[in-house]
Amino acid sequence: MLKVSKSRGDSPVSIIGAGIAGAWQALLFAQAGYTVTLYERSDAGMTLSTSHWAGGMLAPWCEAETSEPVIGRLGLRSLDLWREHFPNTPFNGSLVVAHARDRADFERFAKLTTGHVRLDAQGVRDLEPSLEGRFRDGLFYAGEGHVDPRRVLPELHQRIAAAGGTVKFSSDAEADDLEDQSPEGIVIDCRGLSARDQQPELRGVKGEMILVETAEIELSRPLRLMHPRWPLYVIPRGDGKFMLGATSIEAEDTGVSVRSALELLGAAYAVHPAFAEARILEFGSGLRPAYPDNLPRITVEKNRIAVNGLYRHGFLLAPALAELTLAHVERGAIDNEVMRCA
Ligand SMILES: Cc1cc2nc3c(=O)[nH]c(=O)nc-3n(C[C@H](O)[C@H](O)[C@H](O)COP(=O)(O)OP(=O)(O)OC[C@H]3O[C@@H](n4cnc5c(N)ncnc54)[C@H](O)[C@@H]3O)c2cc1C
Repeated sequence: MLKVSKSRGDSPVSIIGAGIAGAWQALLFAQAGYTVTLYERSDAGMTLSTSHWAGGMLAPWCEAETSEPVIGRLGLRSLDLWREHFPNTPFNGSLVVAHARDRADFERFAKLTTGHVRLDAQGVRDLEPSLEGRFRDGLFYAGEGHVDPRRVLPELHQRIAAAGGTVKFSSDAEADDLEDQSPEGIVIDCRGLSARDQQPELRGVKGEMILVETAEIELSRPLRLMHPRWPLYVIPRGDGKFMLGATSIEAEDTGVSVRSALELLGAAYAVHPAFAEARILEFGSGLRPAYPDNLPRITVEKNRIAVNGLYRHGFLLAPALAELTLAHVERGAIDNEVMRCA
């Protein structure tokens, strides 16, 4: 059972890993009055984190196609927390389209998901004028949002500092050392795949992305294109930049294969031929930390808590997971679907 001193200030909270999971933990604990220190191995550029490479889609309805109901439940709560803490987050929905040959997949996607309205060609054009004449129909998920990880992570780190927390970049931390330094404190391990030394069942699921730039196309929201193997998408990043993502491969190497590059670039070209003239700015990949059931987990063992397994839903789930962790520390609340308490 977790032991917390009566006064919040007396229970320092050390969080290891400033990716999306650790950053949200640090923010909510700092705002609740705890003395928070967030340790991060990477420099402020966060290139060592998986979060740096993510799409940042907040898409609980679309993700229901391939995920368990708990992802939807926590995802919906997270949308509220994103809205509350980052009111400028764009919640202008996401659009799913398919070419005629992938019609069956499109219908299947529509059947397996809720929260959408069907659009005809005119409806698609009204939402995204650049797509005029490209798709005969679409699915619009009006309640979904998206963030740019490379903007929102620094913003989260600044907010943590503004709430009185300390963020230490280029700082490798060990839970045992932190416990020795502060036996009354709480250590929250948010190291993603690096936590495999403590949690050997974690695995990495590789996701590849490409960043391109073109002034020829404008999109206002993430666009998902039906694809037989992966949910491929194009996400506008502003200033004519677009992220093309993402593969999902059971492998732990880094870099982008020729095959994946062809598929991602082909998907963009299929969305609009003008992508053929876009400049490629970056190829990259990240390893999504996943447990065998692909579900997130909060593991509590005495004063040590591990938050991990965010898999392909880190941005969608991190706020709700932080709220659950805080509720456990404050009131002993237990969410049976995601918590394991020793
Ligand atoms: C291509 C791609 C697209 C994705 N798109 C989406 C999406 O659209 N929406 C969504 O919700 N999710 C998406 N994801 C999934 C999401 O990125 C992950 O679920 C999330 O990043 C996991 O976050 P994390 O904080 O657990 O891990 P990480 O982001 O990896 O953070 C862990 C941090 O711990 C640090 N660390 C490790 N060991 C130590 C140590 N000893 N001391 C100090 N620091 C340490 C690391 O440097 C790292 O910064 C995508 C992932 C990929 C790869």
